[in-house]
Amino acid sequence: MNILLFGPPGAGKGTQSSLLVERKKMRHISTGDLFRAAIKNQTPLGKEAKGYLDAGRLVPDSVTIGMVQEALNELRDDFILDGFPRNLAQADALDMILDEQKLKLDNAVFLEVSTDELVERLSGRRTCRTCGASYHVKNKPPKDGVHCDTCGGTDIYQRADDAPEAIRTRMQVYEASTRPLKEYYEKRGELRLVDGSGSEHDVYRRIEKALGC
Ligand code: ADP
Ligand code: ZN
Repeated sequence: MNILLFGPPGAGKGTQSSLLVERKKMRHISTGDLFRAAIKNQTPLGKEAKGYLDAGRLVPDSVTIGMVQEALNELRDDFILDGFPRNLAQADALDMILDEQKLKLDNAVFLEVSTDELVERLSGRRTCRTCGASYHVKNKPPKDGVHCDTCGGTDIYQRADDAPEAIRTRMQVYEASTRPLKEYYEKRGELRLVDGSGSEHDVYRRIEKALGC
Protein backbone atom coordinates (compact mmCIF):
# COMPACT_ATOMS: atom_id res chain seq x y z
CA MET A 1 0.00 0.00 0.00
CA ASN A 2 1.24 3.47 -0.94
CA ILE A 3 0.22 6.39 1.19
CA LEU A 4 0.95 9.98 1.88
CA LEU A 5 0.70 11.65 5.25
CA PHE A 6 -0.19 15.31 5.47
CA GLY A 7 -1.57 17.84 7.90
CA PRO A 8 -0.49 20.96 9.75
CA PRO A 9 3.04 21.29 11.14
CA GLY A 10 3.33 19.30 14.36
CA ALA A 11 0.50 16.92 13.45
CA GLY A 12 2.81 13.95 13.97
CA LYS A 13 3.64 12.88 10.44
CA GLY A 14 7.21 11.97 11.30
CA THR A 15 6.28 10.04 14.45
CA GLN A 16 3.56 8.05 12.73
CA SER A 17 5.82 7.36 9.76
CA SER A 18 8.42 5.82 12.08
CA LEU A 19 5.76 3.55 13.58
CA LEU A 20 4.55 2.48 10.14
CA VAL A 21 8.12 1.77 9.03
CA GLU A 22 8.74 -0.33 12.12
CA ARG A 23 5.51 -2.29 12.11
CA LYS A 24 4.49 -2.50 8.47
CA LYS A 25 7.96 -2.42 6.93
CA MET A 26 7.01 0.53 4.75
CA ARG A 27 9.57 2.84 3.14
CA HIS A 28 9.60 6.39 4.44
CA ILE A 29 10.40 9.42 2.29
CA SER A 30 10.34 12.70 4.20
CA THR A 31 11.17 15.90 2.36
CA GLY A 32 11.88 17.65 5.69
CA ASP A 33 14.41 14.92 6.59
CA LEU A 34 15.97 15.09 3.10
CA PHE A 35 16.40 18.85 3.43
CA ARG A 36 17.82 18.60 6.97
CA ALA A 37 20.32 15.92 5.82
CA ALA A 38 21.40 18.14 2.90
CA ILE A 39 21.86 21.07 5.29
CA LYS A 40 23.90 18.97 7.71
CA ASN A 41 26.13 17.76 4.86
CA GLN A 42 26.40 21.29 3.45
CA THR A 43 25.53 20.21 -0.08
CA PRO A 44 24.53 22.86 -2.67
CA LEU A 45 20.91 21.80 -2.15
CA GLY A 46 21.33 22.22 1.60
CA LYS A 47 22.80 25.69 1.22
CA GLU A 48 19.89 26.73 -0.96
CA ALA A 49 17.27 25.25 1.38
CA LYS A 50 18.58 26.39 4.76
CA GLY A 51 17.14 29.91 4.84
CA TYR A 52 13.69 28.64 3.92
CA LEU A 53 13.67 25.90 6.55
CA ASP A 54 14.90 28.16 9.34
CA ALA A 55 12.20 30.70 8.55
CA GLY A 56 9.47 28.07 8.23
CA ARG A 57 8.77 28.84 4.57
CA LEU A 58 8.40 26.36 1.71
CA VAL A 59 11.50 25.65 -0.32
CA PRO A 60 10.69 26.71 -3.92
CA ASP A 61 8.93 24.04 -6.00
CA SER A 62 11.69 24.00 -8.63
CA VAL A 63 14.14 22.78 -6.00
CA THR A 64 11.77 20.54 -4.05
CA ILE A 65 10.22 18.72 -7.00
CA GLY A 66 13.65 17.94 -8.48
CA MET A 67 14.80 16.52 -5.15
CA VAL A 68 11.70 14.37 -4.76
CA GLN A 69 11.97 13.12 -8.32
CA GLU A 70 15.43 11.86 -7.51
CA ALA A 71 14.36 10.33 -4.19
CA LEU A 72 11.46 8.55 -5.86
CA ASN A 73 13.53 7.33 -8.75
CA GLU A 74 13.80 3.73 -7.71
CA LEU A 75 10.65 3.65 -5.70
CA ARG A 76 8.87 0.38 -5.10
CA ASP A 77 5.47 -0.25 -3.59
CA ASP A 78 4.75 0.23 0.12
CA PHE A 79 5.99 3.76 0.58
CA ILE A 80 4.98 6.62 2.86
CA LEU A 81 5.42 10.13 1.56
CA ASP A 82 5.77 12.55 4.46
CA GLY A 83 5.82 16.29 3.80
CA PHE A 84 5.25 16.08 0.07
CA PRO A 85 3.14 17.33 -1.60
CA ARG A 86 2.64 20.56 0.34
CA ASN A 87 0.80 22.55 -2.33
CA LEU A 88 -1.28 21.90 -5.45
CA ALA A 89 1.61 22.28 -7.90
CA GLN A 90 3.52 19.60 -5.99
CA ALA A 91 0.46 17.35 -5.98
CA ASP A 92 0.28 17.59 -9.79
CA ALA A 93 4.00 16.89 -10.03
CA LEU A 94 3.58 13.85 -7.82
CA ASP A 95 0.84 12.46 -10.06
CA MET A 96 3.19 12.71 -13.02
CA ILE A 97 6.12 11.13 -11.21
CA LEU A 98 4.00 8.20 -10.05
CA ASP A 99 2.47 7.74 -13.52
CA GLU A 100 5.90 7.55 -15.09
CA GLN A 101 6.85 4.80 -12.70
CA LYS A 102 3.51 3.00 -13.01
CA LEU A 103 2.89 3.47 -9.31
CA LYS A 104 -0.36 4.41 -7.65
CA LEU A 105 -1.27 6.26 -4.49
CA ASP A 106 -3.84 4.40 -2.38
CA ASN A 107 -4.58 6.71 0.53
CA ALA A 108 -3.91 10.31 1.50
CA VAL A 109 -4.03 10.38 5.29
CA PHE A 110 -4.79 13.76 6.82
CA LEU A 111 -3.89 14.14 10.52
CA GLU A 112 -6.20 16.61 12.27
CA VAL A 113 -5.03 18.39 15.42
CA SER A 114 -6.30 21.56 17.09
CA THR A 115 -4.18 24.69 16.82
CA ASP A 116 -3.63 24.85 20.60
CA GLU A 117 -2.28 21.32 20.71
CA LEU A 118 -0.07 21.97 17.66
CA VAL A 119 1.53 25.04 19.20
CA GLU A 120 2.15 23.22 22.49
CA ARG A 121 3.74 20.27 20.65
CA LEU A 122 5.94 22.36 18.38
CA SER A 123 7.18 24.84 20.95
CA GLY A 124 8.31 22.01 23.27
CA ARG A 125 9.70 19.79 20.54
CA ARG A 126 13.36 18.79 20.56
CA THR A 127 15.07 16.81 17.81
CA CYS A 128 18.10 14.51 17.78
CA ARG A 129 20.59 16.02 15.38
CA THR A 130 22.12 12.62 14.62
CA CYS A 131 19.08 10.51 13.77
CA GLY A 132 16.16 12.94 13.67
CA ALA A 133 14.18 11.26 16.49
CA SER A 134 11.85 13.73 18.12
CA TYR A 135 11.23 14.47 21.79
CA HIS A 136 9.21 16.90 23.86
CA VAL A 137 10.48 18.76 26.91
CA LYS A 138 7.39 17.88 28.95
CA ASN A 139 5.58 15.00 27.30
CA LYS A 140 8.43 12.91 25.97
CA PRO A 141 11.94 13.65 27.22
CA PRO A 142 14.72 11.14 26.39
CA LYS A 143 14.50 8.20 28.85
CA ASP A 144 17.68 9.11 30.76
CA GLY A 145 17.18 12.82 30.24
CA VAL A 146 20.33 13.19 28.13
CA HIS A 147 20.88 10.55 25.45
CA CYS A 148 18.70 9.91 22.39
CA ASP A 149 16.73 6.69 23.03
CA THR A 150 17.25 5.60 19.44
CA CYS A 151 20.90 6.34 18.65
CA GLY A 152 22.50 7.36 21.96
CA GLY A 153 23.45 10.78 20.57
CA THR A 154 23.67 13.71 22.98
CA ASP A 155 22.98 16.59 20.60
CA ILE A 156 19.27 17.07 21.14
CA TYR A 157 18.36 20.54 19.92
CA GLN A 158 15.47 22.82 19.10
CA ARG A 159 14.95 23.15 15.35
CA ALA A 160 15.21 26.79 14.24
CA ASP A 161 11.76 26.43 12.73
CA ASP A 162 10.32 25.42 16.12
CA ALA A 163 10.99 28.93 17.44
CA PRO A 164 7.77 30.98 17.97
CA GLU A 165 8.11 33.29 14.95
CA ALA A 166 8.83 30.40 12.57
CA ILE A 167 5.95 28.38 14.02
CA ARG A 168 3.59 31.24 13.16
CA THR A 169 4.94 31.35 9.60
CA ARG A 170 4.57 27.59 9.16
CA MET A 171 0.95 27.76 10.31
CA GLN A 172 0.24 30.49 7.76
CA VAL A 173 1.98 28.58 4.99
CA TYR A 174 -0.03 25.52 5.91
CA GLU A 175 -3.34 27.41 5.77
CA ALA A 176 -2.58 29.02 2.44
CA SER A 177 -0.82 26.21 0.58
CA THR A 178 -1.22 22.79 2.16
CA ARG A 179 -4.76 22.77 3.51
CA PRO A 180 -6.28 23.01 0.00
CA LEU A 181 -4.87 19.52 -0.65
CA LYS A 182 -7.65 18.08 1.49
CA GLU A 183 -10.18 18.93 -1.16
CA TYR A 184 -7.87 17.71 -3.91
CA TYR A 185 -7.63 14.22 -2.43
CA GLU A 186 -11.21 14.18 -1.26
CA LYS A 187 -12.42 14.63 -4.84
CA ARG A 188 -10.39 11.61 -5.85
CA GLY A 189 -11.77 9.49 -3.03
CA GLU A 190 -8.32 9.03 -1.51
CA LEU A 191 -8.68 11.21 1.57
CA ARG A 192 -8.67 9.50 4.99
CA LEU A 193 -9.30 11.88 7.88
CA VAL A 194 -7.64 10.76 11.09
CA ASP A 195 -7.91 12.41 14.50
CA GLY A 196 -4.28 13.18 15.35
CA SER A 197 -4.84 14.28 18.95
CA GLY A 198 -3.69 12.35 21.99
CA SER A 199 -0.94 9.78 22.37
CA GLU A 200 1.26 8.41 19.57
CA HIS A 201 -0.21 4.96 20.00
CA ASP A 202 -3.82 6.12 19.96
CA VAL A 203 -3.15 7.95 16.72
CA TYR A 204 -1.33 4.98 15.27
CA ARG A 205 -4.30 2.71 15.97
CA ARG A 206 -6.64 5.20 14.28
CA ILE A 207 -4.40 5.19 11.22
CA GLU A 208 -4.42 1.39 11.07
CA LYS A 209 -8.18 1.47 11.27
CA ALA A 210 -8.50 4.13 8.55
CA LEU A 211 -6.21 2.13 6.27
CA GLY A 212 -7.76 -1.21 7.15
CA CYS A 213 -4.35 -2.73 7.82
P1 ADP B 1 6.77 20.02 9.75
O1 ADP B 1 5.78 19.15 9.03
O2 ADP B 1 6.79 19.75 11.22
O3 ADP B 1 6.63 21.49 9.43
P2 ADP B 1 8.94 18.97 8.06
O4 ADP B 1 10.13 18.32 8.63
O5 ADP B 1 7.99 18.14 7.26
O6 ADP B 1 8.24 19.67 9.30
O7 ADP B 1 9.39 20.20 7.12
C1 ADP B 1 10.28 21.17 7.58
C2 ADP B 1 10.54 22.25 6.52
O8 ADP B 1 11.12 21.66 5.34
C3 ADP B 1 9.31 22.99 5.98
O9 ADP B 1 8.89 24.04 6.83
C4 ADP B 1 9.87 23.52 4.64
O10 ADP B 1 10.75 24.61 4.84
C5 ADP B 1 10.70 22.35 4.16
N1 ADP B 1 9.89 21.43 3.35
C6 ADP B 1 9.56 20.15 3.66
N2 ADP B 1 8.79 19.60 2.69
C7 ADP B 1 8.64 20.56 1.74
C8 ADP B 1 7.93 20.62 0.51
N3 ADP B 1 7.22 19.58 0.05
N4 ADP B 1 7.99 21.76 -0.21
C9 ADP B 1 8.70 22.81 0.22
N5 ADP B 1 9.37 22.83 1.39
C10 ADP B 1 9.34 21.73 2.14
ZN1 ZN C 1 19.18 9.99 17.76
